[in-house]
Amino acid sequence: MYAYCPYDGTALGSREIDGRLRPTCPRCGFAYFKRVQIGANCVIERDGQVVLVRLNYGPRDGCWALPGGLVEPEETVEQAARRETTEETGYEVALDSLLSTWTRPGLETLIVTFRARVLRGELRPAPLEASEARWFGRDELPPEWELAWPSTVHALRVWQGRTAPVRNPFRGL
Ligand SMILES: [Zn+2]
Repeated sequence: MYAYCPYDGTALGSREIDGRLRPTCPRCGFAYFKRVQIGANCVIERDGQVVLVRLNYGPRDGCWALPGGLVEPEETVEQAARRETTEETGYEVALDSLLSTWTRPGLETLIVTFRARVLRGELRPAPLEASEARWFGRDELPPEWELAWPSTVHALRVWQGRTAPVRNPFRGL
């Protein structure tokens, strides 16, 4: 939350927009709405299989994740999904469609997952991020407690046809 306008430094006032009082700048009109980090992931598909990478750092060390990462300011979510996927798997991919989104109230993150297919490249994990990268069949995925994030669980359930793509009805996820 801002006390001063991030554009011109003016102390923010308060104005009702869309039924809520929001911090607003009396000078330039900036209004504070919830901002989120956007993560872009790929479900790379081939012959009914999907690629997962096994993280080797941080709190999810040893867990399986979809290739992906945070969107940088100068790129689209689609560009980020393809860039991160190449960095993490060695594959250049094309995006075929939107698979799912994931959000949770109170958490400032939106995860967007695309269906993708391999254009070229050889599967090799990025050594600084993953110890392993491999294909998994639809019915041979790791157990959900070995998946890195709730968004990973959600996207893979959607991919398996077990849940709807744009809702997150799972308590605890
Ligand atoms: Zn301002």
